[in-house]
Amino acid sequence: MKEISEALRESVRKSANHRCGYCLSPQQYVMSRLEIEHIIPRSKGGSNDETNLWLSCSLCNRFKGAQTTAIDPQSGKEVPLFNPRFQSWREHFQWEANGTVIEGLTPTGRATVVALQLNNELAIEVRRNWILAGWHPPI
Ligand SMILES: [Zn+2]
Repeated sequence: MKEISEALRESVRKSANHRCGYCLSPQQYVMSRLEIEHIIPRSKGGSNDETNLWLSCSLCNRFKGAQTTAIDPQSGKEVPLFNPRFQSWREHFQWEANGTVIEGLTPTGRATVVALQLNNELAIEVRRNWILAGWHPPI
């Protein structure tokens, strides 16, 4: 499998607007480099092609792991995870509680919130501070 070149990494960062595709954390507010993630994990046959790559914070990437589907807590059905390259964040999620909480609006949105723990304790606390700083939620 071909390596991901620096030019390709830069292109993905630009396409993703330098934000995590799941929790929308901007690079400028997190100290660690946002990661180039495989939408379909390599362990499940995902390629290094640009169409399979997006940007993710390390927290979301770690919680996502090798998952491609998860359970929608409302229906109990297994559904695909959110695909940040081809799907619209606003169609699947919205900010709640002044921007501290991400609410899933669709089966995919709800399943992704749970699977990637988008409202984990640390994320909630960091968002609360971003709000105080006037950095959040993104428009
Ligand atoms: Zn994230």
